[in-house]
Amino acid sequence: MFRVGIGHDTHRLGLNRPLILGGLRIEHPRGLIGHSDADVVLHALTDAMLGAAGLGDIGDAYPDTDPKYKECDSSVFVVETLRRLGEKGYRLVNIDCTIFAEEPKLGPIKAKMREHLAALLSLAVDAVNVKAKTGEKVGAIGRAEAIGCQVVALIEK
Ligand code: MG
Repeated sequence: MFRVGIGHDTHRLGLNRPLILGGLRIEHPRGLIGHSDADVVLHALTDAMLGAAGLGDIGDAYPDTDPKYKECDSSVFVVETLRRLGEKGYRLVNIDCTIFAEEPKLGPIKAKMREHLAALLSLAVDAVNVKAKTGEKVGAIGRAEAIGCQVVALIEK
């Protein structure tokens, strides 16, 4: 049996924060603001996996009121969610990510992010897709005030 889930996330860009996207630290003058490391890619991925398995959302599963998640590496959400999927008898089949960022330009790091996510998820690289879009100068993302991400995940029992 196959099931599909979708995840979405947006965080604001601000000064004095490292920029972490898809588990990678990216050199940039500003980073994403949030309780954890604010990695929109891993947050959207976590929600997509939780959604596929009918396990609710990231806010319920890993509340930002919990001090143990302050400044944390968002990989912990992904790894714990994978474990929960396994407990329910599911395995991840593939994911497809679209990152919305006016800056920095993500073209040069998409391939590295894909490999990093594949390793994190124990998937083949061709089961992980990473796409990058700008905001065409429109809206908060287009003004480079925020970065967003959408992820679709397919799981199989
Ligand atoms: Mg988030």
